[in-house]
Amino acid sequence: MDAPVLVLNANFEPINVCNTRRAVGLILSGKADLVMNGRGYLKTIQQSIPIPSVIRLDQMVHRPRLRVKLTRREVFRRDNYTCQYCGCHSTDLTVDHVEPKHLGGMHVWTNVVAACPSCNHRKGGRPLQESQMILLHVPKEPPANAGYIFARHLDGNQEWEQFIQGW
Ligand SMILES: [Zn+2]
Repeated sequence: MDAPVLVLNANFEPINVCNTRRAVGLILSGKADLVMNGRGYLKTIQQSIPIPSVIRLDQMVHRPRLRVKLTRREVFRRDNYTCQYCGCHSTDLTVDHVEPKHLGGMHVWTNVVAACPSCNHRKGGRPLQESQMILLHVPKEPPANAGYIFARHLDGNQEWEQFIQGW
């Protein structure tokens, strides 16, 4: 019941991922329709309910444009799990503030990069120029399209791709 379900807005725009329990609840209460099953059936005494993989809301939900949330995981994903100073590929990364926070650097996409512990240590609390270290890429806010935002869910849910492409 915790398997992820892709939620589409009434216009088929992918807007969210919820768990199966919530998705079945939305279908049973008439707020959403099943778009894709693919997960078998949930058998109760009276009926058998398809376990959804993708559902679509009946009513259009108006929401602000999708943005990628600034989290450690998303910083590492944007930077391709690569230290932005030495280029090493690692699962052991830290978030470095290019302009250090104690010098007024902000916690925003354009001021954070993935850094391996040794580069982070080498840079210390110094601003970039003073550290004489060079960034591989200028940090930017990642694209807010559905393909990028939902990409990490596609591994176990290839069938979602057709609903995500193009948004
Ligand atoms: Zn490094």
